[in-house]
Amino acid sequence: MTTTHADPAAPDESALDAAKRAEPGIVTCDACPVLCRIRPGKTGACDRFGNVEGRLARMDPLTVIARRPEMVAFAGADWSGNPIAAQDVFVSGIGAGTTYPDYKPAPFIVAAEIDGVDMVTVVTEGIFSYCGLKVKIDTDRHLGAERSAVRARGEQVGHVTTAEYGSQMLSLGGVRHLTGGTKREGVVTCETLLTLCNGGAIELAVDGGAAVTVQAGAAPIVDGVPESRMRVGCGSATIGIFASQWLGHADEVIVVDDHITGVLTEHQAGRFLGLPPSGIRVRGRRSTPGRYFQVANPGAGWGGTDIAEPLSIIERIDPRIAWPGLRLLMVSTTGEHAAWFVLDEAMTPRPVPMPEPIAAIVARIGENCEPALCSVLFMAGAGGSLRAGVTENPVLLTRSVQKRLTRVTMGGAPVYVWPGGGITIMADVAAMPANAFGHVPTPALVAPIEFTMPRADYLLLGGYGERVRSLADILAAGAVRGATLPPGTLFPIAE
Ligand code: SF4
Repeated sequence: MTTTHADPAAPDESALDAAKRAEPGIVTCDACPVLCRIRPGKTGACDRFGNVEGRLARMDPLTVIARRPEMVAFAGADWSGNPIAAQDVFVSGIGAGTTYPDYKPAPFIVAAEIDGVDMVTVVTEGIFSYCGLKVKIDTDRHLGAERSAVRARGEQVGHVTTAEYGSQMLSLGGVRHLTGGTKREGVVTCETLLTLCNGGAIELAVDGGAAVTVQAGAAPIVDGVPESRMRVGCGSATIGIFASQWLGHADEVIVVDDHITGVLTEHQAGRFLGLPPSGIRVRGRRSTPGRYFQVANPGAGWGGTDIAEPLSIIERIDPRIAWPGLRLLMVSTTGEHAAWFVLDEAMTPRPVPMPEPIAAIVARIGENCEPALCSVLFMAGAGGSLRAGVTENPVLLTRSVQKRLTRVTMGGAPVYVWPGGGITIMADVAAMPANAFGHVPTPALVAPIEFTMPRADYLLLGGYGERVRSLADILAAGAVRGATLPPGTLFPIAE
């Protein structure tokens, strides 16, 4: 059992206490609609709250983010109790607890003076039924057709959505999978989201497509094969990048790509360099000179197509234009696949050993590929009832966030706030401290969220001024855990 702290919003005198009196020793958790009745020494269904000596307690310590690792000592036994500069620590929502139903003030409303300005941070763990993940998987390999179901342990937890440049995209979770299907679908969806949000790996299967193992910050594993390279660009872009380097070493280069296959001598880059036409015509639909769509079907072969034999995409070779001895390079957008051919007297491409200058450029394509990774962005609506834990007049918080007067963070990490109505936020789970997320069995995800604004603005919003506590008070109360943000995440308070 970890350090605990009393639930700051636990009711003292209420109907729940009546229930306690009826069954001595049992406390009822009111932090979510499940209303677990918890026996002494036990925890509720989510393990976040427990019965500690007859009182409801949040079982994890409140996580306070320190600007630098050496400052984490404030939360440990070595801390002497000296004041901590407010600009060096930030009270996060991790371990803060939840005040459901949200008309109660948030668990922690923290005052701190930063650069001479009285600031307030409202800290809570939000319960998100409306939440999901956008997962970016850096691979050319075909994972499945757009809109195909994505499954975990047989349950649909999301779908394949629009591919991006060099990446396949999944949309996972969302209210329909959490609440609109069977109970098992909701539970498996919630577990899948939770695992990915907390940095774990999940095996997913796409209907009619691939099996893929996804983990934030790690390389995807597609059908058992770890992906290593994110393509340098589409086939046309690859032509554009390397055209001048091929000049004098190859008479034609075809960059095989599921989306846009490039043909050097037809492409504007080849024409600009004065390359003569090769007479080699590839299959598919010509978009613009040297750029072809649909040369093959999507797959796990060359350039995200289903081909294993590159010559299969050549439709014809015009003997009036081509010539014996013509040197042809066929290469994929990652450089993982490459073959070198020379036309014989019958205009048939014959494989021959690749010359060193060409091999060097193929290697350079690989060198220009970034490592293939999975990125997991949590997306949720914070424009609902949790706002009532911040202010008695929630729309004022929404307007303040939309005007960028109130800053929203998750576990201290920055979030992107979508334009338009509501408070629709998106955050990179890899930018947040480890294990920042939890769940409740409704099912829904629990995520830390903080709203920071000047104290004067907070009071104008209808904030709970009487519940504001000083940072020093919260640190002195103990049961806090010091942590730092992952490398690369900016500290939420400007230095
Ligand atoms: S699931 Fe967790 S938060 Fe919900 S009532 Fe039970 S212990 Fe409390």
